Amino acid sequence: MKCRKCGRRAVAILKAYGLSLCERCYPEFYLNLVKRSIKRYGILKPKEKILAAVSGGKDSSAMANVLKKLGYEFELLYIDLGIDHYSSESERAVMELAESIDVNVNVVRLEEYGFTVSDVRKRLRRKTCSACGTAKRYIMNRFARENGFDIITTGHTVEDIVSFYLKNVAGGMRLWAEKLLPRNEPFDEKIVARAKPLFEVSEKENMLYVLIESIPFTPMECPYAPNPEWKEIVYEIERRKPGFSKNFIRGLISEKEEFDHVKYCRLCGEITNRDICSFCKLRMSF
Ligand code: SF4
Ligand code: ZN
Repeated sequence: MKCRKCGRRAVAILKAYGLSLCERCYPEFYLNLVKRSIKRYGILKPKEKILAAVSGGKDSSAMANVLKKLGYEFELLYIDLGIDHYSSESERAVMELAESIDVNVNVVRLEEYGFTVSDVRKRLRRKTCSACGTAKRYIMNRFARENGFDIITTGHTVEDIVSFYLKNVAGGMRLWAEKLLPRNEPFDEKIVARAKPLFEVSEKENMLYVLIESIPFTPMECPYAPNPEWKEIVYEIERRKPGFSKNFIRGLISEKEEFDHVKYCRLCGEITNRDICSFCKLRMSF
C-alpha cells in the first residue's frame, strides 16, 4: 500500500480514517490529531503550568513527546510504585524519555509513604489495582498542588475511556461522567485540574508514533495487570467497525454538552437543547 500523501511505501494503515501513511507523513498526521483535540475540547489552556504524569509506557511517553513538539512547557512526574523489576525498568525508560525531550523529571516513591504496591499485593491481594490507582491519584494531586502546577496530564487513550464506560454500564454502576471527559476542572481548592491530551487517540496510533519517532518507552507490562477483557472487547468491535471508539467518545462528549446546556424552546417553553424543541419542529412541518 502507498502513502496517501506522498506515494512512498505506507507503514501506518489507519482504518478509522480510511488512510495509509508512510513513516515521514505519519508523525505530522499524529501531531495534528492531538493538536486538533486539544483545541476542540479546550484540553489545555495557554500559560498553564503543566505536570505530565508518565509511566514509562508507550502512551504517556507519546504524550510527553507530543506536548514538547507542540511547544508546551511542562515537567514530568514519575511515581515509583515499588513493583520490583517492572518499576526499575519503567524508571529507566522515563529517564531516557526526559533526556530525549530535555524536560525536568520529578520522582516520587510510594515507599516514602511506608508501603509499595508489591506490599499491597502480598497483603490485600485482590485489591492491587484499585489500591495502586488510589495511591497514584493521591500522589499526583498532592505533588502537583504542593509544587504549584495548574494541571496534570495523563496518557489515557480512546480505548481506556470506551472500555471504562462499557465496564461501568455493564456492571450497573453509576456513570462517573467526569472520568470520561477530556478535561476535569477542580471542584475544590485542594484538587488540581486533570487533562487527557490523547483522549481521541488510539493505542495503535501511539505505538506507531513512538516506534517511528524512536521515543524511549518500555514495552514491559505490570505483572499485576488484570486480564484486559473490556479492552479486548473494544479492540474486537474496532476490528469489525473501524472508527467505532472515536465516534463513541465524540458522541459521549456531545451528549454531555447538550445536557450541560439545557435551554427552553422559543415557541412552547418546554425543555430542549436547541432553540426550538424537536416537537415544535415536527409540528411546524404540518
Ligand atoms: Fe498498578 Fe499494575 Fe494495576 Fe496498573 S496494572 S493499576 S500499575 S498494579
Ligand atoms: Zn508519505
